[in-house]
Amino acid sequence: MRIHRSFDRPSVKASADWFTGTVWQDPIVDAPDPARIRAVRVAFEPGARTNWHTHPLGQTLHVLAGVGLVQKEGEPVRRILPGDTVWIGPDEKHWHGASANRSMMHLALHEHDETGTHVTWLEPVSDADYGRPPEP
Ligand code: MN
Repeated sequence: MRIHRSFDRPSVKASADWFTGTVWQDPIVDAPDPARIRAVRVAFEPGARTNWHTHPLGQTLHVLAGVGLVQKEGEPVRRILPGDTVWIGPDEKHWHGASANRSMMHLALHEHDETGTHVTWLEPVSDADYGRPPEP
């Protein structure tokens, strides 16, 4: 057993290669093999979001605070609120982030595949795509 103390795990600023705006990541689960589950708490400032991306084994998002947005390619932008849980299927192209004027924090849970990959990053979400009015 190992207890990870929060003060020993500094927040990591997400790479501008894969995110728009300011995003902070706090690791929750980073278990060694043969465990595959990974979990990270992600805090997006207003307007911040991921690039478009896919997950080989899918991903669950659980909103902890704020007002967020999520979109699957070809579908409307959807608003997500604290307590909401989103399942994103394997290889579904999508993005997630804060709304334009409110921050958002979610828990992200996903598994590594046999090559150690849990995400494939794609192009940034354009301001035009990001700015579409969300559906409930
Ligand atoms: Mn994702």
